[in-house]
Amino acid sequence: MKVYNTLSKQKEEFIPLEEGKVKMYVCGPTVYNLIHIGNARPMIVFDTVRRYMEYKGYEVNFVSNFTDVDDKIIKKAVEEGVTAQEISQRYIAECKKDMESMNVKPATTHPLATQEIDGMLEMIGTLIEKGFAYPVADGTVYFRSRKFEEYGKLSHKNLDDLQAGHRDIKVAGEEKEDSLDFVLWKPKKEGEPYWESPWCQGRPGWHIECSVMSKKYLGEEIDIHAGGEDLIFPHHENEIAQSEACNGKIFAKYWLHNGFLNIDNKKMSKSLGNFFTVREIGEKYDLQVLRFFMLSAHYRSPLNFSADLMEAAKNGLDRICNGAENLKHLAQNTQTEQMTDEETEILKGSDVFLTKFETAMDDDFNTADGISAVFELVKYSNTHTKGTSSKELLEKLFQRMKTLCDILGIILEKKEEILEEEIEQLIAERQAARKEKNFVRADEIRGILLEKGIVLEDTREGVKWKKA
Ligand code: AMP
Ligand code: ZN
Repeated sequence: MKVYNTLSKQKEEFIPLEEGKVKMYVCGPTVYNLIHIGNARPMIVFDTVRRYMEYKGYEVNFVSNFTDVDDKIIKKAVEEGVTAQEISQRYIAECKKDMESMNVKPATTHPLATQEIDGMLEMIGTLIEKGFAYPVADGTVYFRSRKFEEYGKLSHKNLDDLQAGHRDIKVAGEEKEDSLDFVLWKPKKEGEPYWESPWCQGRPGWHIECSVMSKKYLGEEIDIHAGGEDLIFPHHENEIAQSEACNGKIFAKYWLHNGFLNIDNKKMSKSLGNFFTVREIGEKYDLQVLRFFMLSAHYRSPLNFSADLMEAAKNGLDRICNGAENLKHLAQNTQTEQMTDEETEILKGSDVFLTKFETAMDDDFNTADGISAVFELVKYSNTHTKGTSSKELLEKLFQRMKTLCDILGIILEKKEEILEEEIEQLIAERQAARKEKNFVRADEIRGILLEKGIVLEDTREGVKWKKA
């Protein structure tokens, strides 16, 4: 399996630190609002990476944090007149709902920055002891970037160029030794949440949070660290500097970064105001469609969001779900149980699509080509099965489709589940209408269901329904 490593700017063979295990950390969102579909991209793509690793037999320890202390959270809390904790807890709960709707698996651990302050104080203390950090008069602690000789190795930036960029914005009287130095700990401002520390009452800088949470839940050395490409600099560069200076070990072996989700070819972001929340998209589409849309491009490519592409994703997903549905339907109705010799050959003929899928995914998680292999499998299944096919063949082909879709996090049966729920709800509403002698509404509901191909039968045991 090859993965593109931002550190080496090359595709590299994936070799885990420990055989059969993967330690993976994905930077999570700052929770001050509903997540937008740009934030959903790393969630979906790295969930798919995790699923593929699990399919390959790895035991994946997947850690993804919530940044629950931050200027934006505090601002929102002030606006609403509530505590920062109330804001972060609310949006963590909402984010988890969105993740579930997108079929993103919960992480092994979802640490919260505010629960890990002790670890941060300890790491900052070690960095000061080792000469990699220094406090200034007001209690701010800075990381001494130039002392970490490899500073810039992830973003491939030249320190002098960086310095030149910084010079213009250097604030007069700043006590930083060097404009490249960044904050590890900062003093509280009036009304802000704070923690005691040896330097001042204050709160951590953003970068130290991830270094500490990764170390606590995964250890000093991990296999994969991931996030959106905007995190390469300064966030991930700074995480490397802190962790490697503190622990004296290589922090993460592979650095994976997703490209941006754009709208009108501009990055979708809260600050530009050009975003859709996952919730908004969920009102219009099943969020499986959003997931399918995200995976239809390579994770490192920029992806432009548009109504047309969402419609194309919806059609593509329907094609796959219908193919699977068809196999299930045939399997339920066929009279033959076991595969014939000819069918054994047909099944063997479908091996090629599994191989194609794996080859695509082994090549830096090329989900776009992986999806093409699924389409080919669907087409092959449609053309090689009929009402007289054996149950065994139909079920095995279905199982193959399901295996591939499970890796992509696409739920094949969902459509039916939703439909059933909808049917039950309408039947209950019809019963209530009949009880109130509102036969017009009752008949209307029968008509609505009929339009969807559902026939109702009133029996002594209650209402039964079947597909027309
Ligand atoms: P934030 O809450 O801004 O820290 O973002 C959480 C995650 O979403 C990070 O990994 C970001 O890189 C990622 N992200 C934010 N906006 C986009 C976007 N438009 N496209 C892709 N990823 C994004
Ligand atoms: Zn992070």
